[in-house]
Amino acid sequence: MRVFWHRRDLRIADNRGLAAAAADDTVLPAFVVDDGVLEHAGATRVRFMLDALASLRATYRGLGSDLLVVRGDPTEELPRLASHHDADGVYWNEDYSGLARERDAAVRRSLEDDGLVARAFHDAVHHEPGTITTNEGEPYSVYSYFWKKWRDRSKADPYPAPGPESLVPADDLPADPLPDLDDLGFAEPDAVLQRVGTDAAHDRLDAFLDGPIYEYQEAREYPAREGTSRLSADLKWGTIGVREVSEAVEAAAADAPDDGAAESVEEFRSQLAWREFYAQVLWANPNVVSENVRTYERPIEWREDPEALRAWKVGETGFPIVDAGMRQLREEAYMHNRVRMIVASFLTKDLRVDWREGYAHFRELLVDHDAANDSCGWQWAASTGTDAQPYFRVFNPTTQGERYDPDAEYIREYVPAFEGIPAEEVHGWPDLTDEQRERTADHPHPIVDHAEAREAAIGMFERARGDD
Ligand code: FAD
Repeated sequence: MRVFWHRRDLRIADNRGLAAAAADDTVLPAFVVDDGVLEHAGATRVRFMLDALASLRATYRGLGSDLLVVRGDPTEELPRLASHHDADGVYWNEDYSGLARERDAAVRRSLEDDGLVARAFHDAVHHEPGTITTNEGEPYSVYSYFWKKWRDRSKADPYPAPGPESLVPADDLPADPLPDLDDLGFAEPDAVLQRVGTDAAHDRLDAFLDGPIYEYQEAREYPAREGTSRLSADLKWGTIGVREVSEAVEAAAADAPDDGAAESVEEFRSQLAWREFYAQVLWANPNVVSENVRTYERPIEWREDPEALRAWKVGETGFPIVDAGMRQLREEAYMHNRVRMIVASFLTKDLRVDWREGYAHFRELLVDHDAANDSCGWQWAASTGTDAQPYFRVFNPTTQGERYDPDAEYIREYVPAFEGIPAEEVHGWPDLTDEQRERTADHPHPIVDHAEAREAAIGMFERARGDD
């Protein structure tokens, strides 16, 4: 028998490590609720995890087996589980973050010390980190070069799901209930999540491929439109497999009605490639979650400003698109990509607050928080990352709002105080006089002057560069 240790792959189809375990022996599927991981988790992600585990368990039960869920330290629980069930070894899929790799090395040692087999597989990405490199064998730091190789390299087909004959029967396993949020020390989150589980993920993919993918290139920029796949939490937790997604995307590409639609499909592929680009950035440099990738001559003089940070977190900066984004995050544990870029620019450039404060807040609230995408997204916005935007490019929150939410629909959805106010006044809110604002809506006044803040941000980076 082989124990298959599920982690960020909460599905049975297109699961490379699980397929390998099933090819070698009978499989005992297990999940370890690891207190070390819970320390870094927010309530919404734990809610998603528990719901995805319930869905995975239902799938196994439908096949006459079960998912064994234990709580504790995997270095102790996995050897114990394997020996209790007389298994020869434990298989799992790789996780590329620094903390996960340290934990996995410790698990491997403790299994091998007990004479058990430990095997890990690459599953979460098409091309494992370290396989798409420069001609000198270095990881790419510029996305466009990575993308060309990623796009042109052939990709594996989805892996088959194990059938009942490959799985340990449910009768041989204790049917303990799953822990609930309270057991794990979390209160029920305020945010309302999307449906969770493999079926929900496939429904989202199908709905996206049924039309929106053909308009993705343009629609993805507009937060009021449902123009993106909303698969980020599924890809993070593995409630859908990357090969399954790509296979379906290739079928959609073949059916693209015109060149514009085909370009949109290509744009979607390139977003999947960004995810893999950042996975290899994290793999090559685990400190990307805490240290600037791009170093300047001198330290960047980030400001300490608890009041401004608080206003940003609760959506009270007085910049409507920023406030709408921060409220979407609280209400849905999600934020549209364009708006993530705007709020991240606002925090790091307009407020000159360290990107690590923003990252910590996103990590706590985002249901799709992924160490690679989140830290690299922040470092891109803060001009400290690999392939980051130049330090002198500072998003203007007003023009961004006008361009990407022209009718202020997205803003009004999350900031009801603007209900019934014409779009020009909503976008122009920071430039109204105090009196005009008092007459217009009950919303905070802007906490900075954007033009001055922009100059100050550029000055901060020029000092860091040693230009003065
Ligand atoms: P779609 O547009 O449908 O894209 C499909 C998939 O491609 C996404 O699900 C995601 O897996 C991947 N993807 C899309 N855009 C990016 C990108 N810019 N970088 C890397 N992968 C991408 N994404 C996360 O998955 N987790 C995070 O924690 C995260 N934090 C971010 C923080 C900041 C400051 C920024 C600017 C971006 C962040 N992103 C993060 C990237 C992006 O915002 C989300 O992946 C996207 O909004 C998810 O919505 P979707 O699934 O509808 O995306």
